[in-house]
Amino acid sequence: MPLEKITVWGYRCQRCDHTWVPRDTSDTALEPAVCPKCKSPYWNRPRKTAKTGRKGSRVVTGPKRTGH
Ligand SMILES: [Zn+2]
Repeated sequence: MPLEKITVWGYRCQRCDHTWVPRDTSDTALEPAVCPKCKSPYWNRPRKTAKTGRKGSRVVTGPKRTGH
């Protein structure tokens, strides 16, 4: 019997690139809460640069000179 490549359903962490196969493959609808390796709850979300989140809301920071 030739060697065959078997593809199984698995998860890939977007943070540490770790791949793992869930225990119960029939339960793939339920995604794991965290990555088993890096324990990141955002394993299924690609890293995004939070640059322009909201438009128009500018927070002015600086020394407050109120009163006196
Ligand atoms: Zn991970």
